[in-house]
Amino acid sequence: MKISDILEKKKLTVSFEIFPPKKEAALADVMACSDELALLGPDFISVTYGAGGGTSAHTVKIASHLQNAGVTPIAHITCVSSTKSDISEHIGILKDQNIRNVLALRGDYPKDSGFVSPGDYRFASELVEEIRKSGDFCIGGACYPEGHPESGNRDADLDNLKKKVDAGCSFLTTQMFFDNNMLYSFLNRAQNRGITVPVLAGIMPLTNGAQLKRMIALSNAYLPPKFLALVDRFGENNEAMKQAGIAYATDQIIELITNGIRGIHIYAMNKPDIVRKIMDNISDIVREAE
Ligand code: FAD
Repeated sequence: MKISDILEKKKLTVSFEIFPPKKEAALADVMACSDELALLGPDFISVTYGAGGGTSAHTVKIASHLQNAGVTPIAHITCVSSTKSDISEHIGILKDQNIRNVLALRGDYPKDSGFVSPGDYRFASELVEEIRKSGDFCIGGACYPEGHPESGNRDADLDNLKKKVDAGCSFLTTQMFFDNNMLYSFLNRAQNRGITVPVLAGIMPLTNGAQLKRMIALSNAYLPPKFLALVDRFGENNEAMKQAGIAYATDQIIELITNGIRGIHIYAMNKPDIVRKIMDNISDIVREAE
């Protein structure tokens, strides 16, 4: 099923994201993780893609596995290290596997090559356009409530986002954020800029100190004092931090749903136990809002 149809039909969607393993040997573990997540009844599950291309075959394998298990998959695809012919071949594989939902991303430039070898694509909007021309896909894109880290200012970032949506995105998924006001303010600005497609709120349950440092470095997200206080108090104790991180993500989601947000996308980080606890915490709320 196309995600655009699911979003149109339902008042609230809850979806998850998983990532493929770097090594073949770990593929079975990720498949098992996807099975556990499927049992939690998400509206769809997205599978990330290594921008360097290394895990791209795994992305498709996991997405097909989900499809066979009866869960709508969405396969991510990045273009920063790909030629047009690589992309065309990959789109052919997705079609063969009957995968009809893709999240079209630029990907991060490899650290060592900077901006000097951008391949055949510079921006995700060019990839979106290519996929749109290549077949009957539902295409999603990424967006950044706090601005993309490379972007000089948020207005320019929104102008670029508008180009990406106009190129053919049916929906957007946000980068993680930890202060819901960041999302509300972004949604206002996006709407004023004429961006009207559904926006799924990306929620990352941060459940251990090491993960926290990595994620902050990657996303430069604002961390509210309430969240920092939890980390100060419980960051050194894995079990306590896990509980605090689950509670924080749960609170964030409940507040978003209360305020009318219609798409929650949980960055599952291949940890079904954490997602299960969050889903237990919000089960009646989701049922009521659906
Ligand atoms: P773009 O939309 O191309 O934007 C990148 C930058 O270019 C922005 O600063 C934008 O303002 C600017 N820009 C865009 N168009 C123009 C233009 N026409 N002129 C000038 N500037 C422009 N990475 C992976 O490697 N694999 C994944 O599976 C993956 N999944 C992700 C899922 C989500 C929900 C999110 C939020 C991110 C994901 N990423 C993934 C990370 C993503 O690849 C990086 O954040 C990357 O730096 C930007 O990708 P993008 O598709 O948003 O790029």
